[in-house]
Amino acid sequence: MEINNVQICNVCLRPSDKDTSAVYVKAIAKGEEVHVCTSCIPHIIHGSGDIIKSNTTVLQEYSK
Ligand SMILES: [Zn+2]
Repeated sequence: MEINNVQICNVCLRPSDKDTSAVYVKAIAKGEEVHVCTSCIPHIIHGSGDIIKSNTTVLQEYSK
């Protein structure tokens, strides 16, 4: 997901402002727009979208 132009991976919660080399892919999961960093993409390709957290969950966990 994206907060204040910072992309946060919906799988591992890696924020783009902490890791400038990270690349994020924008995707749609369960009807909402999500971002996934490249290190998590293989898990989705070879696994399933179940590991993608909803934007609500990401927001809750990220703001802790
Ligand atoms: Zn990730």
